[in-house]
Amino acid sequence: MIVVMKTKANPADIQIVKNKILDMELEVYESIGLNYHLIGIVGDTSKVDVEVFTRIQSVEKVIQVQGPYKKASRLFHPENSIISVGNNTIGGNKLAIIAGPCSVESEQQIIEIAEKVKKAGAGFLRGGAFKPRTSPYSFQGLKERGLELLKYAREKSGLPIVVELMSTDKLDLYERDVDIIQIGARNMQNFDLLRAVGRTRKPILLKRGFSATIEEFLMAAEYIMAGGNENIILCERGIRTFENYTRNTLDLSAIPAIKKLSHLPIIVDPSHASGIWWMVEPLAKAAIAVGADGIMIEVHNDPTNALCDGSQSIKPEKFQHLMGCIRDIAKIQNREI
Ligand code: PEP
Ligand code: MN
Repeated sequence: MIVVMKTKANPADIQIVKNKILDMELEVYESIGLNYHLIGIVGDTSKVDVEVFTRIQSVEKVIQVQGPYKKASRLFHPENSIISVGNNTIGGNKLAIIAGPCSVESEQQIIEIAEKVKKAGAGFLRGGAFKPRTSPYSFQGLKERGLELLKYAREKSGLPIVVELMSTDKLDLYERDVDIIQIGARNMQNFDLLRAVGRTRKPILLKRGFSATIEEFLMAAEYIMAGGNENIILCERGIRTFENYTRNTLDLSAIPAIKKLSHLPIIVDPSHASGIWWMVEPLAKAAIAVGADGIMIEVHNDPTNALCDGSQSIKPEKFQHLMGCIRDIAKIQNREI
């Protein structure tokens, strides 16, 4: 439920609205823009009498929100959210370009890739340290050592690091060492993990589960936001369909849908979506063309011998070429890199 205040609402009336919400043991979620002042009511509003608010002079109207997500909804927050990551932002005019290997494999590998993607124009470095692999016998990541190498690569390249968190017991470590905490597709509905990162104020890159609907995806974001962390970047990374030519099916329509439903920024990962290196560039271009706020690309200096996801990784030279194409499309979209 949203209480829409009149322009030039009386501050005393605004306070009355907030007190009434709090008296009902519900939560206030305020959103103030240039031409609007909204007071969202979060919680079980099924028994709220709308007239309690419409009787107040400065109240324009009360809107009943249909969707189950509230803080993530654009109704509650009409303007796009811009997420700050150190001195960078995601969701504003500038596109977020996140690039790097699936997994950190060695010092030489991560430093070389970090320097090359930085040179090509990436704004963030990705790299897995603890890997969620389908087989327990596959490479599981360098773990703590991988995190140390990523910190070293950050120091050398100046790029903020994006790393996947798999369990709550590593949260303190990630809060201290990582710039953006990634929650992977397999953990999109790991509610303990979502609640835990909701208690931090770190930017969270939340990936769509491969069989999650758009509503379930936004509800996962709502879990994090309900804990007080509103710094969320969504990531479409392909969903499972009957088609098996590609690893997943990139759901490009999710981008405009989410832009309509939510104020949160959304980026696209064409690497995990397709699983095929030569599809990464065309899908990345398409992502920017449909309005994504950025892309996340797997880049490896030696894809043939990569310990994880080599078949979908592009070489730094290809990444540089991709950046050139993205620049042109960004211009058409009135966005910058
Ligand atoms: C990843 O980005 O490293 C990853 C494992 O992706 P996803 O969770 O989308 O499968
Ligand atoms: Mn990968």
